[in-house]
Amino acid sequence: TKAYLQSAEDASELNAYVRLTPEHAVEQAKVSDRRIADGSARPLEGIPLGIKDLFCTKGIETNAASKILKDFRPVYESTVTSNLLRDGAVFLGKLNLDEFAMGSSNETSAYGPVINPWRRAGEDTKLSPGGSSGGSSTAVAAHLCAAATATDTGGSIRQPAALTATVGIKPTYGRCSRWGIVAFASSLDQAGPIARDVRDSAIMLTSMAGHDPEDSTSIERPVPDYEKALEGGVKGMKIGIPKEYRLDGMPSEIDELWQKGAKLLEEQGAEIVEVSLPLTKYALPVYYIVAPAEASSNLARYDGVKYGLRVHDDDIHEMYRKTRAEGFGREVQRRLMIGTYVLSAGYYDAYYLRAQKVRKKIANEMASVFQDVDLLLTPSSPSAAFGLGEKSTDPVEMYLNDVFTVTANLAGTPGISLPAGLDGQGLPLGLQLLAPAFGEEQMLRGAYALE
Ligand code: GLN
Repeated sequence: TKAYLQSAEDASELNAYVRLTPEHAVEQAKVSDRRIADGSARPLEGIPLGIKDLFCTKGIETNAASKILKDFRPVYESTVTSNLLRDGAVFLGKLNLDEFAMGSSNETSAYGPVINPWRRAGEDTKLSPGGSSGGSSTAVAAHLCAAATATDTGGSIRQPAALTATVGIKPTYGRCSRWGIVAFASSLDQAGPIARDVRDSAIMLTSMAGHDPEDSTSIERPVPDYEKALEGGVKGMKIGIPKEYRLDGMPSEIDELWQKGAKLLEEQGAEIVEVSLPLTKYALPVYYIVAPAEASSNLARYDGVKYGLRVHDDDIHEMYRKTRAEGFGREVQRRLMIGTYVLSAGYYDAYYLRAQKVRKKIANEMASVFQDVDLLLTPSSPSAAFGLGEKSTDPVEMYLNDVFTVTANLAGTPGISLPAGLDGQGLPLGLQLLAPAFGEEQMLRGAYALE
C-alpha cells in the first residue's frame, strides 16, 4: 500500500488520481496485515485498488470530475465498492475520469486530462489514455494501483484498457449493481474492472458482481468464481468475426493483429467463422440519442439545491440556470441539450422512440448471432492512443472512438478488451471478445487463451 501510494505521488504529472486517501488506505492495510497474520484473510485481503471517482465512497469526496459536485461527500458507499471492501481490498484513492463519464479521452474532466504513460517511439507528444475511465487505465498501466474499478456506458472500460495495454471487462447489464454509482445513462451503465491481466480482472469481477436489492435492474443470479472459468481453453468453441467491423481507413496494423488473434484461437482448437451484423452501422447514432436522453433526465437532479455547487441568485430559476451554466462543462452541456431535444414534444417519436426501436433490433441481432457462435472477436478501438487535443475540437470524430464498443451496451451483453500487441509507433492496440448475456465465463476462457 505504501509503495503504491508513493508511486502515485511520484507520478502525479499523469493526473490519474483526483485524490489519494493515504490515511484510510494505511488504516485498511493494517487491518489486512492483522487478518493475514491470524489466518482470516479474505479473497482480496490487502490488495491496493484505485476507485473511479464515479463510485460513491462513504465520507470521501466524490465529484464525477464535475464542478457541479464540488465538495460532495456521499453518506453511503456504492454496492460495488462495498463488495470490494467486504473482500478485504484497500482503497488508495479516487481516479480521474471524463466529466460524468462522458467522453473517450479523459479531456472533459474538470480536473484536466489524464496522461497516458505510453508514448510514441521517439516522441514526447502527450497522449490520451482513452476515456472515460482514463484515470483507471493509467493507474493500472503505470503501476499506481494493483487494479481499478471503472464503468462502461458505451466503451469507457474497454477503450481505455485498449489504449494502455490493460485488461477491461464490461459485464452483462445487471451483473454489477449500479447503486451508488453516479448515473450517466441508466439503461447502459455497467461497472467493471480494469486490471493488468485476464486473471486479475476475473478475480476483481467475482468480487464486484452480485445481486443487490437496492438496484432493481441487478440480476438475481449467483456469481460464478470467474477465476475458475479461465482454464479449459477454446477447443470446440465457435468464434465469429463480424465483417462489418472491418472499417475503411482503419490502420492496417489493427487488421493484422485482429487476424493474428483469430489465428491464435484457431491454433488452440477454436473454429473461426465470418458472421454478419448488418445493423452495426446504426449502433453509434442510436447510442448518441439514447445516452444523452437518459443523461438529460439523470442530470436534472443537479439543480444547486441538493448537491455540490450553488451559484446564488434571489430568483430561484436564475439560481438553477447559473448553477448549471457554471457547474457543467461543455461536453456535458452538449449532451444535455441533445438529450432534452430528442425527448421534447414533437421530436420524441422521430428521434428517441425510433432510436429505442432500432436498439431493440440491434439487441435481437446480437442474440441471434450468438445462436451460432460462442464469442465474437473484434478490435476494441479504431485507433491507438491519440494526442491530447487531437480530437477534442470535433465531437463526431471523438464519438467515432466508440464504434466497436457501443453495441454491447445497447444489447446489454458483456465484452472484454485485452492487449493485442503494439503498432508501428510502439503503441498498444486491443482486441475485444464479445459474448452473449451472462456469457462472462466463456468470454474469460477465450481471453485467457488469447492472452
Ligand atoms: N465515449 C462514450 C461517451 O462519451 C462512452 C462513455 C462511457 O462509456 N462512459 O458517451
